[in-house]
Amino acid sequence: MADVQTKGRGRGGNRWESPSGGLWFSILLRPNLPSRRLLLLQFLAATAMRDAIGNKTGLDVMLKWPNDLVLGNAKLGGILIESKTQGERVSFAILGIGLNVNQGKAQLPPGAISMRLVSGKKQHDLRVLLRAILDQIRSSFDNLSHPSKIMDEWWRSSIHRSLRVQVTLPKDTVTGISRAIDEDGSLLIETDDHRIRRVNEGSLRILND
Ligand code: ATP
Repeated sequence: MADVQTKGRGRGGNRWESPSGGLWFSILLRPNLPSRRLLLLQFLAATAMRDAIGNKTGLDVMLKWPNDLVLGNAKLGGILIESKTQGERVSFAILGIGLNVNQGKAQLPPGAISMRLVSGKKQHDLRVLLRAILDQIRSSFDNLSHPSKIMDEWWRSSIHRSLRVQVTLPKDTVTGISRAIDEDGSLLIETDDHRIRRVNEGSLRILND
């Protein structure tokens, strides 16, 4: 757990702003998991964080594919997973978690929100939150052997369930209705010609039309 990070990262080397006031921590896990199921950890952790924050504060955090926690339309936090695999198995995984908690508006990048700004409470106790999140992750850990349960729970709290979205990929964009996620963590999008496109990378935006 860090008070401040000077080189916090998001996906693909994006910068993750981590000034004091947020919860910045990593968890080392040694799950018994085939490497193709690695992303289950990311989705499990997202739902666990939503539940823990909801229990402690009453805030209704929603989830955005692939790795964001949001409040309203703004980004509250993110989860980054890095791992080492051996053969077909995961030998260890590191979940890096960032959550905007006590920062004021001036300490947040555009499009971000903190728990303080939404709840009006100036100081949430970071250790109490950390404890609640760790307990929730621990108690849902057994679900790793039930991938569909993890994904169903995540999907139920997704902010773009059955909404029209656009996913920007490195060389392409996919537009359509976001229909489901599969057990590998891919998002299934029904395009305007009623075909299902499976996307496993990219950045998602909800369309308002
Ligand atoms: P997006 O969620 O916008 O599609 P992404 O998922 O690719 O982007 P990540 O790599 O998960 O984003 O996170 C990095 C991005 O998040 C940065 O490029 C910046 O726009 C934004 N960001 C950086 N720091 C924070 C923060 N503390 N809170 C919220 N958003 C942040």
